[in-house]
Amino acid sequence: MKLFRKLVLVFCLALVSSGIVPAHAATEVRVATRVLPPMVMSQDGALSGFSIELWNEIARRTNIVFKYEVYPDVRSLLESVQTGKADLGIAAISITAAREEVFNFSQPILNSGLQILIGGGNAAAENPLGDLLSLLFSRTSVMWLSIAFLLALGPAHLVWLVERRHPEGIIPTTRYFPGIFYAFYWAAATLTTQADTAPRQWLARVVAIFWMFSSIVFVALYTAQLTATLTVKQINAGIGGPEDLAGKRVAVTKGSTAAKVVGGLRAEAVEFSKIDEVYQALHDKSVDAVVFDSPVLMHYAANEGKGRVTLVGPPFGKEDYGIVFPQGSKWLSVTNVALLRIKEDGTYQRLHEKWFGVAK
Ligand code: GLU
Repeated sequence: MKLFRKLVLVFCLALVSSGIVPAHAATEVRVATRVLPPMVMSQDGALSGFSIELWNEIARRTNIVFKYEVYPDVRSLLESVQTGKADLGIAAISITAAREEVFNFSQPILNSGLQILIGGGNAAAENPLGDLLSLLFSRTSVMWLSIAFLLALGPAHLVWLVERRHPEGIIPTTRYFPGIFYAFYWAAATLTTQADTAPRQWLARVVAIFWMFSSIVFVALYTAQLTATLTVKQINAGIGGPEDLAGKRVAVTKGSTAAKVVGGLRAEAVEFSKIDEVYQALHDKSVDAVVFDSPVLMHYAANEGKGRVTLVGPPFGKEDYGIVFPQGSKWLSVTNVALLRIKEDGTYQRLHEKWFGVAK
């Protein structure tokens, strides 16, 4: 009897795992998603991407029969799950406390965070006068001016000391005041390679040679630093991190976590449905920056946006993506078991490597 029961069990298992009798064949599960490369990509109606392949694998292992339904934005996607139009949702849906109150989320499917994207590659000076003035009065300039002043005090004093007694020397008086002013003027002029006089006393000339050489190094360093500052400023349009977004127009997607965060930064959030519209707004310069999910922006910056956009700073505001279900969904637990198995047996790592280039 025991043997018979075992045989029946083995037969049933064989049927299920061969796919002849799907375990959940009775219902076609409606999976809401939205296009957001590289999580979800759409080509001629065919869906691919990290989230799609992950769900396909979960469905394969659990024998869930399903069909995808594509929604325009995360807000309508979540609504479809809440109202029962869809049975679950997968794309780049961040797990948040507010959403957890209304939905059930699977185990995290990807670590994410927000990042800033700005237009770049067009570093040509669009406001040369503004650039000149802002460089002239920048902190960098003040810092270098102070360094130059302190440095010049040394040779000025040495030259004053040895040159003041020379009858045709560059210091017309032996007194400290105003003698040191003449010496300092000579040192400052030499530093900018503009000196029109040279010391006559030999010891002072030795000092002058050392000072001239130091000047060359000084000007080279100063020029390099100013060039770097200018380039960074032009590329970044003055945006170096989230704190610089205040007062700026920032493109986000409708109903996203980014839209909420941008609102809190005293920036003006301009909402779009499709991510392509977000990128387009940046290229059209109708916004100053984009704030969105780091994996999505990184993919864009490395592919279609290459050379046209720049990612600013590291990701901030850590978030995890999850698969979203209505509360009490019967699919939640089977999904979690399959997802954890996929993580445990290395399939997840392979998927991650395929879509993000690095093993997780
Ligand atoms: N991770 C974002 C969120 O869940 C994505 C938004 C979107 O799909 O546009 O809010």
